[in-house]
Amino acid sequence: MPPAAPPLVVQKYGGSSLATPARLRRVAARVAAVRRGGCRVVVVVSAMGDATDALLALAAEVRGAGGAADGRELDLLLATGEQAAAALLALALAAEGVPARALTGARAGLRTDGRHGDARIVALAGGRRGGVQRALAAGCVPVVAGFQGLSRGGEVTTLGRGGSDTTAVALAAALGADRCDIYTDVDGIFTADPRRVPGARRHDVLSHRDTLLLTHAGAGVLHPRAAALAAAHCLTLRVLSSLEDGPERGTRIEGENTVEMPRILGIAAAGGAARVVVDAAAGASMAEGPGAALRALAAAGVPVEHLEEKAGAGGRRMALLVPAAQGDEACRALRAAFAEPARVALEPPVARVTVVASGMGALAGRVAAALAALEAGGVDAEGLGISPMGLTLWVAPGHAARAVALLHAVLVEEAGAAAGAGGVRRPA
Ligand code: ASP
Ligand code: MG
Repeated sequence: MPPAAPPLVVQKYGGSSLATPARLRRVAARVAAVRRGGCRVVVVVSAMGDATDALLALAAEVRGAGGAADGRELDLLLATGEQAAAALLALALAAEGVPARALTGARAGLRTDGRHGDARIVALAGGRRGGVQRALAAGCVPVVAGFQGLSRGGEVTTLGRGGSDTTAVALAAALGADRCDIYTDVDGIFTADPRRVPGARRHDVLSHRDTLLLTHAGAGVLHPRAAALAAAHCLTLRVLSSLEDGPERGTRIEGENTVEMPRILGIAAAGGAARVVVDAAAGASMAEGPGAALRALAAAGVPVEHLEEKAGAGGRRMALLVPAAQGDEACRALRAAFAEPARVALEPPVARVTVVASGMGALAGRVAAALAALEAGGVDAEGLGISPMGLTLWVAPGHAARAVALLHAVLVEEAGAAAGAGGVRRPA
């Protein structure tokens, strides 16, 4: 029998971990140390620092007011950010004495659909002859440019903002990696963003399900699509800080919950959604109301983040949330779908603040106290929904940070609840 291959670890480094030459060298030293420990390492990188924002700003400036965004060109431009980071990290690794090979997403075999700016991974091409496997076989560290792939038509695509996490998880699943470590600038997933809420507590362990709920609520440390992919593959993830030395503290994501105790997992805000309101004619059916709206937006390529509808005497009123950049597009599509006297209007944006919980019903008293604290703190909720999975509030974007802090103070800090999922069963 051939000797067992050494463990394989996929490490992903976010932009803040790579923002300066000194940080790149620090990452190279970390990779070298893991390799000396007897592991094979595959690295996935984001663009350095704010490079993606800078490229987007450049494109906007060059285009001016007149030009429409072209997804194909924008993707080609944005993909260079990760490519530069991969090449530079490979150079830094070589300087550490670690042979490394920088790979574009295409060269690493990431195949996607053709949706520019929001492409989905459809396959990992190449198998044993792919760029990553070949680099590993040659004893090199593959350094893969995250966030990008190649469409069937041979075009460079990108996976949406924050998409390098998804690259890392997809690669780890396809390679059968023993572990996938996501390095960022905070050491784990907390009950709220620790950079804004000083009392936030780190989760040492989280189940895949709870992680998915927290990322969808807006916990920015991990991309929701990466969390979903890790859950689907039962892949163990760790979220760690690359900026701290010493023993690694972070959040381990694995397995499923075994305890049913009511608990609060965290509080997060997601902002920047555009809100469109449609007043459909009286007597319109569900298929003619929400059904028609969903069809029109799907045809226009506008994803619906939330839809709420109420039927009243005057007709049906629908409120829809769509990505901020697509508010006008959504209005155009809905106006074409709903004839007069229906009315379509773009309203001021709202932020969504979510308390992610389990067994919310048993926590009603604490929730009531939290709502009183919000009111005393001057936060005006435009809408509120409670379900067994938590509490959602709609607030003006300027109130979101305060709402998170107030809710956290009452529901987590005052309650003295221990952070942590309490009872996560590891996968067999
Ligand atoms: N650089 C890209 C972004 O800023 C992708 C990523 O960071 O994962 O969105
Ligand atoms: Mg980035």
